[in-house]
Amino acid sequence: MRRRFRFCPQCGRPLRDDKTHGLKVKYCTPCNRHYFDNPVPGVGVIAVRDGKILLVKRKLPPMAGTWALPGGFMDQGESIENAGRRELLEETGLRADRAKFFDALSMGSYMFGTVVVLAVEASGLHGKLTAADDAADARFFDLKKMPFIAFSGHVKFIRKYLKQLKSN
Ligand SMILES: [Zn+2]
Repeated sequence: MRRRFRFCPQCGRPLRDDKTHGLKVKYCTPCNRHYFDNPVPGVGVIAVRDGKILLVKRKLPPMAGTWALPGGFMDQGESIENAGRRELLEETGLRADRAKFFDALSMGSYMFGTVVVLAVEASGLHGKLTAADDAADARFFDLKKMPFIAFSGHVKFIRKYLKQLKSN
């Protein structure tokens, strides 16, 4: 279930409902501050080697137990490419010599609201493939024999990537 602020993160007092810019928002009277409920940016990493794509089995909700691109939410101060490299390393143990922005889309998540997913293409992979962090497993799958993918956004990225592979 999606979590929202109920108390002011600055002063700890209860927030009240308010409206501004045509949006329903939370407001703290003592701090005179609105808390906007903005979309969250995350990354999904496309890492293909020898015609196989790297996927991770999700350990946590949403969609625990299903496969997805390695990825997660961006940290403050991080570039899109470095967020991709970090998530790749954390979840699969692999490092990428090259990482570049590939595509972006927004998708609805019952836990996080609107998530802006930034796809990062990672290449020059090295290291020992080891599932860790939020990944229960990490494996390379034949692009023609992929398992069910957790998120429709990830499926769109993979389809676009395959289309580009064919046209090159
Ligand atoms: Zn406050």
